[in-house]
Amino acid sequence: MRYINLSRVILPDGWFEASAVATAAVNQGDSPNDHSAVWRQLKSALADLFNDKCWYCETAVPRSDNAVDHFRPKGRVSDAVNPHSGYKWLAFDQSNFRYACTFCNSRRKDVDGGTAGGKADRFPLLDESKRLYAPGTLADEQPVLLDPCDISDWRLLGCKRENGQPCPAGGNLVDRKRAETSIAIYHLQHEPTCKLRHAEAVKLLLDIEEAKGYFIQSQTDHEQEASFKRVAKRILAAIDYDSPFSGEMRFILGGERDQDNPWIQDLLMT
Ligand SMILES: [Zn+2]
Repeated sequence: MRYINLSRVILPDGWFEASAVATAAVNQGDSPNDHSAVWRQLKSALADLFNDKCWYCETAVPRSDNAVDHFRPKGRVSDAVNPHSGYKWLAFDQSNFRYACTFCNSRRKDVDGGTAGGKADRFPLLDESKRLYAPGTLADEQPVLLDPCDISDWRLLGCKRENGQPCPAGGNLVDRKRAETSIAIYHLQHEPTCKLRHAEAVKLLLDIEEAKGYFIQSQTDHEQEASFKRVAKRILAAIDYDSPFSGEMRFILGGERDQDNPWIQDLLMT
């Protein structure tokens, strides 16, 4: 996961008007789904913000019909203690849209891998008593789910170098609970995804080992310096915003820092 600056999204001509018309119709009793064309219009613009990757798991997403997720569900909310028919007032608010793959967005069961997950109607809060049932101050709610549009949430998610399984990146008890719940609800432990994540981690770790081997002599030897830079470029590409699982690859690279290899911190700051 990485931070997505949603304010950069380029909206089609007339989109705010279409959003206002749909919101008024929903206020009159229509279902948000009757006006799904409004959010589907933004699919390509949202995909463009993150190189067509899912904002939750960073896998490539074909631009399917269900790719626009409502972070706060537009329909029923299963985690609410009282019956909740959804954050309908945010159904056409672009700040509530996230671009997501089917595995993160929809309830799915992976029989072979023995896992299940998918966000669907889930939206747990740290303090259920703060739940909004009508328009109000969103900042009063504290979502459990890590939000790619929050500037710091993405840093709470890591991955295990041995098998690509997602894990909390550390932090306090609440941070860890939020990461663990997000892993389960976004189905980030989906086995085929873990295998892809692991393959990227293996390549990265080999490159880090190679770069460490070149680094000390690269201070005095031009040939070693050229070799070091060649590998460092590959490492930079692996943690680049546009690359698959770049947030988790940054986490793995961060775990390789030591006093003999200050270049790792330099790459993370690049
Ligand atoms: Zn996903």
